[in-house]
Amino acid sequence: MRPENKLAYFGNKPVFDVPRSTSNLVQPSKEKFLSYLKPTYSSKIICNSGSLISLFEQRFAELHGAKHCIAVCNGLWGLVLTIYCLKKDNCSEVIMPSLTYRRLADIAAWVKLTPYYCDVDSTTLGLTRETAAGSITNNTALILAPHPIVNLCDIDGLIDLANEEGLPLLFDSVESYYADHKGKRIGSFGDAECFSMHASKFINGFEGGYITTNDNQLAEKLRWTRNNGIDELDNVKYFGINAHLTDLHAAFGLASLDEVEDQVEKNKERFFQYKTLLENVDGLRLVEYATEEKRSFKNILVELNSKWKLPRDITLKLLQAENMIVRPYYSPPLHEKETSYATIKGDLKNTNELKGKFMLLPCGEFVNLNDIKIIVEYLDFINAHADYILSLEKSKH
Ligand SMILES: *Cc1c(COP(=O)(O)O)cnc(C)c1O
Repeated sequence: MRPENKLAYFGNKPVFDVPRSTSNLVQPSKEKFLSYLKPTYSSKIICNSGSLISLFEQRFAELHGAKHCIAVCNGLWGLVLTIYCLKKDNCSEVIMPSLTYRRLADIAAWVKLTPYYCDVDSTTLGLTRETAAGSITNNTALILAPHPIVNLCDIDGLIDLANEEGLPLLFDSVESYYADHKGKRIGSFGDAECFSMHASKFINGFEGGYITTNDNQLAEKLRWTRNNGIDELDNVKYFGINAHLTDLHAAFGLASLDEVEDQVEKNKERFFQYKTLLENVDGLRLVEYATEEKRSFKNILVELNSKWKLPRDITLKLLQAENMIVRPYYSPPLHEKETSYATIKGDLKNTNELKGKFMLLPCGEFVNLNDIKIIVEYLDFINAHADYILSLEKSKH
């Protein structure tokens, strides 16, 4: 079939009626959710961190092998509060990658700190000791290291660097909840780690987040800060905000947690379906998960290499027209975005080479193995007809 008779971009019916997205959107069982919530409902104590939040914090601390878990209203405020509590006094710069989550710079700005963008490693797409080290100045307040979407950043190298330089190190571990590093679950590395339970993430709490740490003092400070700065004697003693997790979200998160192994099995099936089928498609390299350690297999990331003949933006448009909600990987990088606050750009050589090359494919609960067959078939089709599609595209404008 010719592209103009098949593709939705040229006016045909989209292959999917309902969008297939890159969000996870796993819902736990309703019964489980309600059973976690029941005691709260009966107790009539429904605000400010009651026994369900204690249970939540205990379960998640245990799971991550961390001394403390502090539940918060979402991932963003978890990061803001942790940076606020950890940052080195009288210093104003936060080291972070540019090729990362689109809100990360705003998070630093909320604490009135200046993002200092550093490079990422071209293989792992994450921070390493080497890429972060060049951005350290006398003014560095903290290193903020988000794990990339697939696999992990250089945990050991960054811990060494932070120790040598006397700098706080915070991992944004939203994308690596389930991962192991050297046989140890993510959650107790560096000074603290932050997680999100937004519905699009691995653990769905409808909303919500939490922080894990082994640092007693930090945990205490985070609890006050989260609770409007109110101490255990009910005095407003500190600078704070209301950043509680509600019992509703805790119940949802706990119910999701109970079904995690099942989710990972399904993610694996989807990942290996992509892997098998993409082997026959020119121009796309699937970014693989480390097999020697635990991984969630949630995200499907591909690199468009020299044999992929369509520009990424046109590739995205063609697929999105079919209701395949594909996304460019962390695009544009943070250093290319206009902000209302100052930023500092370090050496971004790898970032500039990588920024146009990656794309996320549909994944999560609403994508089945047959959908993946269709998605890969379309990928193969558009690359095979790339020259012709580009000529059609030209005459369209
Ligand atoms: C989603 C996300 C966050 C923010 O979490 P919210 O709960 O949505 O505020 C932070 N970091 C990364 C890497 C994320 O993907």
